Amino acid sequence: MTSFSLRQVKLRPGEQYRDEVELELPAFEFGGQRYIPVPERIPAAFEITRANTGTVFRLSFTARLHGPCYRCLGDAVLEVPIDAREYQATSPEDEQLTTPYVVGAELALSQWGRDAVALALPDKILCRPDCAGLCGECGKNLNDEPHTHDDAEPDPRWAALEALRESG
Ligand SMILES: [Zn+2]
Ligand SMILES: [Zn+2]
Repeated sequence: MTSFSLRQVKLRPGEQYRDEVELELPAFEFGGQRYIPVPERIPAAFEITRANTGTVFRLSFTARLHGPCYRCLGDAVLEVPIDAREYQATSPEDEQLTTPYVVGAELALSQWGRDAVALALPDKILCRPDCAGLCGECGKNLNDEPHTHDDAEPDPRWAALEALRESG
């Protein structure tokens, strides 16, 4: 997992530090399915800005996730652009003013990136926006084989024939 040592950067108020980091993202569990970041390590832009009362962290990258489509279970690829910010007060009196990703002198970039992606995921991950899904009756993929089933009553002539056969 990627983390950044905050000891290496000493900033005065108004100063900024920028870096390009290689961010490792773990796999995601979403809606009972597993989504894998491909590639697992992606370039991310990272910024630290020192303000008078605290520090602003900014992390931006685009994650690409591979996993099953919610409707048809075929392969879905999802791009998730992220531009996240966190604030850490220099002398926090209030938990609201700290980020959970600063642990000691380390900034937990992978964990932060992972949470940011999880928050940005859509309700349903689809192979394409108009995915037709699977047929509720026969289970075939409606993208490959568009079809419908006649759910009308069975033909009465067949019922009559069936009755004849049973009595015979
Ligand atoms: Zn689909
Ligand atoms: Zn069908």
